[in-house]
Amino acid sequence: MASHYTLAEGCPYASNSTSVQVRNGSGGGLVLLQDTQLIETLAHFSRERIPERVVHAKAAGGYGEFEVTHDCSDITSASFLNAVGKKTEVLLRISTVGPERGSADTVRDVHGWAMKLYTDQGNLDWVFNNTPVFFIRDPIKFPSLNRSHKRHPRTNVPDANMFWDFHVGNPEGIHQIMHLFSDRGTPASLRHMNAYSGHTYKFTQEDGSFKYVKIHIKTQLGVKNLTRETAVQIAGENPDYLVQDLYDAIETGKYPVWNVYVQVMEPSEAEKYKWNIFDMTKVWPHKDFPLRQIGRLTLNRNPKNYFTDIEQAAFSPSTMVPGIAPSADPVLQARMFAYPDAARYRLGVNYQQLPTNAASSPVYCPFQRDGFMNFSTNYGDDPNYVGSILRPTTFAPASNGNGRVASTLTEHEKWVGEACSFVTQISDEDFEQATALWEVLGRETGHQERFIGNVADHLRGVTDSRLRNMVYDLFSHVDAGLAARIQVATEASLS
Ligand code: NDP
Repeated sequence: MASHYTLAEGCPYASNSTSVQVRNGSGGGLVLLQDTQLIETLAHFSRERIPERVVHAKAAGGYGEFEVTHDCSDITSASFLNAVGKKTEVLLRISTVGPERGSADTVRDVHGWAMKLYTDQGNLDWVFNNTPVFFIRDPIKFPSLNRSHKRHPRTNVPDANMFWDFHVGNPEGIHQIMHLFSDRGTPASLRHMNAYSGHTYKFTQEDGSFKYVKIHIKTQLGVKNLTRETAVQIAGENPDYLVQDLYDAIETGKYPVWNVYVQVMEPSEAEKYKWNIFDMTKVWPHKDFPLRQIGRLTLNRNPKNYFTDIEQAAFSPSTMVPGIAPSADPVLQARMFAYPDAARYRLGVNYQQLPTNAASSPVYCPFQRDGFMNFSTNYGDDPNYVGSILRPTTFAPASNGNGRVASTLTEHEKWVGEACSFVTQISDEDFEQATALWEVLGRETGHQERFIGNVADHLRGVTDSRLRNMVYDLFSHVDAGLAARIQVATEASLS
């Protein structure tokens, strides 16, 4: 650390608060273009924003640890999971999805859960949500979905017509709509919120065998939510309410803790299961595949600098370690392209070198070199091509590195191809789990009433009565009584 202020190139400042001026006798002065300190100060200020994330812009973040609580050697060879008690450092970023970086964080929205585990075999990113399902199962709909939740291109304000028009036309999302308009759409704090992989993943062994898993992260504090009225009030009083709550809790030693579970399914079970495991609008009901605990997550340290630690953090479902692999879920496959692509645009092609993204395990990747803002040693004069005879590499290839373990189940892979052709058809089955959630809400006093109020409050923003009728029809496939009650509540609020 320098003992005085300097320019970015190290030259000491004459003064940190005065521009260089040529004085004329009466006291006025001329500012000079040669005042490099002034020019650089102004020029850098104009450039201190980086592109905001198109989705998941508003977030809180913290550091902590993942600890293995139960033996899981029978389901994965992942090194960070290979011993009970083993701990791995974690960075967690929790966000809303649609609204911008300066928006209120208690608005009704799905919440993103991006977690980087700095394991001893490279980084593992779990890029989850606080809901176990999603709105779509074909990735080509992703930009349309998100735009329909954002600002109208003409009015520049969020638009209920656009929102419901998208969801009536893409009814596979009804299960996620049920989650969004339940109390869980407005969490009372990020500490009282669960997270789910949504996607099916694979836990793999070194011999190529695997099991399908869904991952659940459940708060030890219990789920707590805000009512619509309170969420709206807080949005006006303190738009950073959730961010501040998490920061203050960690700062005062009230470290939030979550238990981490998996549901585990054999490939042969997947072939016969009622629900398509590559369709992320569906859960695996607990009675079919009970939760099995593998670990515990604790947040215990706030970032020192939000920009370097959280804003510059880049997460991707493609960031995996041996022992974990993607399933054929088409949305997961597409996200594995789209997330690193977004990071390359937002942060530059060498974003993995930024301290918050850098692996804590050794990195040797000499075939990926140069590029803007390369501040590594760039592998010196090591060969930048494969197969050097003059200077052969001394490394043996990792046995199951990079999640690229070959499946040993050829017949199963044929089924996988067929199972992934589901994406376009909608059937009555698409409403069954939404109905199941409606029944779950009925177990808690007043929750169904609050749900109806939440939908009606949003739906009254729809100015086209034909579209409102189509929305009532959509909910009638979940439950006829639910649809009728939404209609009554909505139309009453309009009259
Ligand atoms: P269960 O009766 O076994 O479980 C219902 C689950 O619903 C609970 O374990 C809880 O999950 C979750 N839940 C409880 N209250 C609410 C609420 N107010 N809002 C949202 N979720 C709530 O049923 P099934 O496993 O058969 O699932 C029934 C429905 O429950 C599903 O259609 C799905 O919408 C929802 N659900 C199911 C999950 C799953 O993975 N099976 C996970 C979460 C929700 P948790 O303990 O994770 O909080």
